[in-house]
Amino acid sequence: MSASRLLRMTQLYAPTLKEDPVDAEIASHRLLVRAAMIRKVASGVYSFLPLGFKVLKKLEQIVREEMEAIGCEEMRMSIIQPAELWHESGRWDDYGPELFRLNDRHEHTFALAPTHEELITSLVRNELRSYKELPKSLFHITNKYRDEIRPRFGLLRGREFIMKDAYDFHPNRESLQEGYDAMARAYGRICDRLGLTWYPVEADSGQIGGKVTCEFMALADAGEAELVYCGCGYAANTEVAEARIKPLAFEADALEKIHTPIEGTIAALAEFLKIPEAATVKALSVRDASGAISVLFIPGDHELGEIKASKALGAFEFLNDEEMLEKGLVKGFMGPVGLPQGVRVIADVSLKDTPHWVVGANEVDHHYVGAAVGTDFEVDDWADLATARLGDRCPVCGKPLELARGIEVGQVFQLGTKYSESMSARFMDEDGSEKPFLMGCYGWGVTRSLAAVVEQHNDEGGIRWPLSVAPAEVAVLPLIVGDGAVEPAALHIAEELAAAGIETVLDDRAERAGVKFNDADLIGWPYQIIVGKRGLEAGEVELKDRHSGEKRQIALNEAADLVSTVVREARARYL
Ligand code: ATP
Ligand code: MG
Repeated sequence: MSASRLLRMTQLYAPTLKEDPVDAEIASHRLLVRAAMIRKVASGVYSFLPLGFKVLKKLEQIVREEMEAIGCEEMRMSIIQPAELWHESGRWDDYGPELFRLNDRHEHTFALAPTHEELITSLVRNELRSYKELPKSLFHITNKYRDEIRPRFGLLRGREFIMKDAYDFHPNRESLQEGYDAMARAYGRICDRLGLTWYPVEADSGQIGGKVTCEFMALADAGEAELVYCGCGYAANTEVAEARIKPLAFEADALEKIHTPIEGTIAALAEFLKIPEAATVKALSVRDASGAISVLFIPGDHELGEIKASKALGAFEFLNDEEMLEKGLVKGFMGPVGLPQGVRVIADVSLKDTPHWVVGANEVDHHYVGAAVGTDFEVDDWADLATARLGDRCPVCGKPLELARGIEVGQVFQLGTKYSESMSARFMDEDGSEKPFLMGCYGWGVTRSLAAVVEQHNDEGGIRWPLSVAPAEVAVLPLIVGDGAVEPAALHIAEELAAAGIETVLDDRAERAGVKFNDADLIGWPYQIIVGKRGLEAGEVELKDRHSGEKRQIALNEAADLVSTVVREARARYL
């Protein structure tokens, strides 16, 4: 084990802050700024100070190792890219205002790369020629630029951020699937090594047929995605989860129209009838691209999933009040019995087993109870329409689903021939024919995952870095400076640890003990060795585990050996 350089707090540039930055809404943003890891330059743009940069380099190294372990080779592509490339793929127009665009002095137009599909496709298209050279898998770690409409949450949604993006090129579907599977496994290992609690989540591009893709979600309240998951390993975005929904049964003998002089909402209906919302049926009217009008029915306590609806209908729009009136639809009181001619009934699959529906009667202030499918009305189409919620059942094992929010730290995606077709990137296959490459693309948010780690590992005192990405592994805190015994003892332990290859920082600042304790907790060193006058008299120092909070006295003369062993054992847990 080679020695590591002993860091000294007096040499570091680490201006920690007592106050939270005013614009910080979430823990990672607050703590990364206060712990002197990052500083804001502009909205969604941050610099990394030395401590944050140490974390960043370690995190990048973990990502790099896992890419190399699956045969993905590192390269470096430029960030300034000619507009022509983006015209070729069609994304110059499609990307919209999120794409940063600039002109040079000759009025040539460029984009700042938000991602690198165009550039890598143009790089390989004339030089990767034969099936014999395939598959090929390449990655790089660089800044990305996206003029996000709402940059926020510190590193979670920036306008300048660091991404690891990998691309692979395959001769056929099987090869693409293998590359994709290997990449997904590597992403799982990266999550584990970062100490993240995570789920691979079925994502969806909204298109009919669906693309093969998976998002890696770190569970955190600050996350923008809402997901359901189950102990059996199933997880999906609530928008696309195929949860088993069980509407409540409503007992009725026959169809009965009742007077309901209420506002036409599910809440009002449930209250009026003294039944749970889950026993009612909600109706929404839509028009699809062909102009056809449908009423969609879902369990009353659920929301319509718009991605699901567009899978069933293609592009669609909700009818506004005027259009509803025009089509003879009664807002707030729609139901499947007695709808105007030509209006289709599309119902959520969960309602198949619901014999009697409580629904609108297509008449102001009236509802039906006991409307029976097949007897009182027909359903034109059954589709999965409702967004999953807490209490719905897992589609795999049937247990109740948990609900959580998640941060998308990475995504794997089978692109197929999207870019190789539009940008004419072809290879010569075994049978002598020219074919477009099958491509995969795999993004990992380096700076976003750094923030996700902090979201999952913090307390009131500050950050609790997992050992794998901590700015250093052990901090040695001499509680008095200028004391004849404390300072030399602390320096000795710190030097011994560094010589043993343990990343060590010595808080040699002439600060009060309280300041050193607070900063150590805030910055989040995984282990602290506290050297005080009284302890030394008894031949002892204190070892604090930042994660568990556990403190114990250890013998001064064995301190370096013991802590080295503790750190080595902890390291092994993150490999
Ligand atoms: P989102 O849906 O959050 O906007 P995305 O799906 O557009 O992200 P991708 O194009 O899949 O993102 O990019 C790959 C990865 O880059 C994401 O999984 C995420 O970790 C990271 N990333 C994307 N946008 C940002 C951003 N604005 N700031 C920080 N990281 C980002
Ligand atoms: Mg994504």
